[in-house]
Formats: sequence, structure tokens, C-alpha cells
Amino acid sequence: MQVSTTTKSDTETKAEDSSADTSSCVEFDYQLETLDCHDIPGFAGHELVISCTDAKAGLRAFIAIHDTSLGPALGGCRMWRYASDEEALTDALRLSQGMSYKHAVADTQQGGGKAVIVGDPRRDKSDALFQAFGRFVDSLGGQYVTAEDVGVSVDNMVSVRQQTKHVVGLPTSMGSSGDPSPITAYGVYCGIQAAVALKQRRAYDVRARLDDVTVAVQGVGNVGYALCRHLYNAGAKLVVTDVHQSNVTRACTDFSATSVAPEAIYDVTADVFAPCALGGTVNSQTALRLKSAIVAGAANNQLAEPAVAKTLTDRNILYAPDYVINAGGIINISYEKQGYNLDKAMRHTERIGETLTEIFQRAKTEEISTAEVADRIAQERLGASTSRQ
Ligand code: NAD
Repeated sequence: MQVSTTTKSDTETKAEDSSADTSSCVEFDYQLETLDCHDIPGFAGHELVISCTDAKAGLRAFIAIHDTSLGPALGGCRMWRYASDEEALTDALRLSQGMSYKHAVADTQQGGGKAVIVGDPRRDKSDALFQAFGRFVDSLGGQYVTAEDVGVSVDNMVSVRQQTKHVVGLPTSMGSSGDPSPITAYGVYCGIQAAVALKQRRAYDVRARLDDVTVAVQGVGNVGYALCRHLYNAGAKLVVTDVHQSNVTRACTDFSATSVAPEAIYDVTADVFAPCALGGTVNSQTALRLKSAIVAGAANNQLAEPAVAKTLTDRNILYAPDYVINAGGIINISYEKQGYNLDKAMRHTERIGETLTEIFQRAKTEEISTAEVADRIAQERLGASTSRQ
């Protein structure tokens, strides 16, 4: 991957807090590169992409800001065992673009951005690493606001907060909205209710029973586990998988779920396939194996490539576009700026079911995939905002 760069490499002295006197200053080494990604196919539209290195703290990260025409970029920070910088950067670019679209369709008045940290979240985390990341976030002056994502916890964000105020999703004890996973799961649950309602030819009702519905859940981590709780309480039968056996055991014990091996989840006969692990699991091969009428889950970038949406449509599988159905977390977090109110965030999150119902109906009328309809709505809103400026 060819990227041209502007490098800022220095040893700086920084006050830990603007009100602090010089005796509380700390020294740190860092390297910040502004990347020009215009040559990367499909990712020309980013406003700013930076590479962040702090060798002393063990930090290697990328921050990508896609579009701020509707508001400051807001998106989570992911930590993963990327095989290369190229893989990490590609992930940051596609995730940040997805955030712009997600904010636009969810009507949060925020822009799209995302950060990725290269490393093993079970081995490489430290307070110093997340503080170093926080300094890079702070250097962007609020253009990018971070939060937790896969591999990163609320506690890690408390470390980030020591270096920047541009972080949300902190513990409720700090006046923040807390872990976004439960409300993300609630939004996915609302989306599943809307998709099931359409298939059963009835109106969307978030309180409807799901006694005759089976859901195959891929990944029972933070969101997948909380989703299982909503589905179980509504009477749904659950089949789960995860690469970590302890997570499988917890879901089976708590929600009477049955389990299958990770690779077997695509062959489970179910009403809904709910991808709640990493992205790209619905590809040209797995889309042909699915034995469910609906694909509706939490994972970002669920489709390995856009053409998979047509494969699903051709097979009469109703796809709930990922960034529409998993917007509960960012809807929740967006309420922090006006004084957090859980009830308002929950009511806004329930609108995910209504938005999806509109998308499903428009896809039928316009004879295009649900993914294309969602993109059109996002582009219409981003375009309208740009043309107003
Ligand atoms: P998590 O890390 O807590 O859970 C992911 C789970 O998937 C883990 O238990 C992991 O072991 C499992 N997994 C990984 N690869 C797998 C595979 N090949 N097969 C089966 N299981 C596998 O992450 P999370 O916070 O629950 O997020 C899940 C997905 O939802 C991610 O794609 C994330 O980007 C997306 N998402 C999360 C939020 C949120 O609020 N946390 C919001 C929007 C989107």
C-alpha cells in the first residue's frame, strides 16, 4: 500500500491538565504521521488519517476521520492482532467511512471516524499505552471523539481520559453513558423484531413475543451476550458459537442456548443469523450456506464485499444493513453532549426498527438491495449537509 506521509516526530513536554502548573508536566516521545490515502481504491473521501507511534508506551495505532459535515467525528477504538500495518489501516478506513454513514442514518448529528490499535488485547494492554493513545486523540483538538470497541474496555477509556476530554462511553460514575454494548444489543434486538415482523407480515412491535423464532448468534461477547438476553426473554430459541469456549458456556448456561463450532454456525437452520463477532463473515461462500430468512446482527462491515448483498437478496434473505441495526451504541453516546438521558437514548434506539422497516419497504419498491437503500439514505443526508455549508 502506497501512502504519502507528513511526519511530526518529537519529544514534547505537555501539561497533564491545562490548569496544572509546570511541576505536573510529563515528557513523552511520539511520532505522528498524516497519511494521504487518496490512492487507496474506495477510500478517497477521508478528511484526515494519522498514524500514531509511541514506542516507549508500545503503541501503534491509526486514527481515520472520514466526514465531519454533520458534526465532529465520533467512533470507537478497536484493538486487534492485525497481521500488518496495512491490514490495520484498511480496517480503520472502512470502519470510519461506515461511521459517517451510521451517524447520518441514525440522525445523531455526528461525523464519522474510527481508531485501531495494533496489538493483542489479552496481552498487550497497559495504562501507558492507552494514555499514549489519548495524547494522539487530544492532538486532534476534538475533530475526533473516541470510545470503546472490540478489544477495548470502558476501563481502558478511563486511561485515555487522563490525557484528553475527547472521549465518551466512560463509566456512569464519571457522569458518562457507560458501556455502549447493552444499548447496541437493544438496537439489534429492535432490528430483529422489525425484520421478523416484515417476514411475518405484521407491524413492527418491540414488545412482540418471539416464541416460534430461532436465532443463530455468531459471537457471544459484549453485544452478542446482551442480545441473547433480550431474545431469551422474548421466548426465542438460541444457537450460539464463539472462538472462546468460556463465552459459549456462559450463554448456554444463562439462556438455555445450544452451541455449535464456529465454522458450523453458517449451516444452522434458523429464522435469523445474527453476526456479532468481527466483520466480513458473510461472504460469497457463507451467503450460499445460510439457512435463515434474515441476517441481522451487531458486527460492523458484515458483508465481505458489496456484491454479497445481491446474493442475499437473490436468495430472499432479508439483510438488515449493519450500520443501521448496530447504531444503538452511538445513539446512546451522542446523548452525552446534551446531558445524558438513558430514557431518551432508548426511545431513539427503538427508532432503528422503524428506520429498518422503511429500508426494507424502499428496497422492495426500488428493486435494489437493503444495503444499497441504506447507503442512498446516508449519501442523501451527507450530500444535503455538504450542500448546505
Ligand atoms: P466482543 O469482543 O466483546 O465480542 C466479540 C466476540 O466474537 C468475542 O467473544 C470473540 O471471541 C468472538 N469471535 C471472534 N471471532 C469469532 C469467530 N470467527 N467466530 C465466532 N466468534 C468469534 O465485541 P463486541 O463489543 O461484542 O462487538 C461485537 C461486534 O459488534 C463487533 O463487530 C463490533 O465492531 C460491533 N459493534 C459493537 C458495538 C458495541 O457497542 N460494543 C457497537 C457497534 C458495533
